[in-house]
Amino acid sequence: MAGFRAGSPDQESFLDELLGHGLLIASGVPGLFGHGERFDAVLTAVDRLIARTTAVDQAERLRFPPVLARHDLETNNFLASFPHLAGTIFSFDGADADAIELAGRARRHEDWSEFQGITDLVLAPAACYPAYPAIAARGPLPPSGVTLDLGAGWVFRHEPSGDPARLQSFRMWEMVRMAKPDTVTRWRDEWRDRAVAVLRSVGLDAGVDVATDPFFGRAGRMLAANQRQQELKFEVLVQIAGPEPTAVASFNYHQEHFSGAYGIQMASGETAHTACIGFGMERVTLALLRTHGLDTGQWPDAVCDHLWP
Ligand code: ATP
Ligand code: ZN
Repeated sequence: MAGFRAGSPDQESFLDELLGHGLLIASGVPGLFGHGERFDAVLTAVDRLIARTTAVDQAERLRFPPVLARHDLETNNFLASFPHLAGTIFSFDGADADAIELAGRARRHEDWSEFQGITDLVLAPAACYPAYPAIAARGPLPPSGVTLDLGAGWVFRHEPSGDPARLQSFRMWEMVRMAKPDTVTRWRDEWRDRAVAVLRSVGLDAGVDVATDPFFGRAGRMLAANQRQQELKFEVLVQIAGPEPTAVASFNYHQEHFSGAYGIQMASGETAHTACIGFGMERVTLALLRTHGLDTGQWPDAVCDHLWP
């Protein structure tokens, strides 16, 4: 399978346990799972915990579908950095004879891709992407900028893997700040510290590190080195299934990347800067299950008090 990354023995056995206990439901494709009732109960509690935490920001609440205008993905240059992760929506637009041929090949599980044409839609690879063109369309930002709460949006990334924490379809709770540079970086750093505190409050051994995005190819290695050197991305990491700890939340300073692409300006005429923070909903859920055990009835009272107040 293209791009498949095998899981470590620890990851494979944790996945088997999650499937065996009905927490995850297999689809036959790596990185694509249904959620059993008990998994969903924890994820819903995580969702509410994050919602209570984000209330301090009094952010504007916006919600977007898991599908994005292809034009917007093209504008922000995602395909230059992450062509390997993108999911593009293709659909059929042919004649009767083609439809019959397509259906026959599909039934036999043969290649029917020649009957598919690109549409105006792509799958959202990050929950914050629809926010930038939406805010740009309003005109210049107010002097204090904007703060957005995007909730737990579904995203797609083509990274099939045997690690239950590396999914192809998952939810990411994102907040976005658009303002002057120092306002944006201060907000991002406050959120990084707040995220560590909230994850520790539910018993997770959370630590922070500078991080890079998985940029594609040789040019990508230079982008990653630059990103690390400028400390544009931090991650909060928790040990889920070995060998390395897993990023459960990310804190990204984009500088003028999105605001330049879409034309987001301050009232004074300068280009705004932007930052986003994202919690991986399934990863936080998995970290809790790994740390406290698969039976939520046995979790420590202090953890339950924070999750189910
Ligand atoms: P940007 O908007 O700059 O692309 P982002 O913050 O939206 O960045 P990431 O930092 O890549 O996107 O991801 C945010 C969070 O989503 C990560 O901290 C992680 O918890 C979760 N995540 C990322 N990839 C996966 C995956 N394949 N499976 C499950 N969760 C993931
Ligand atoms: Zn984002």
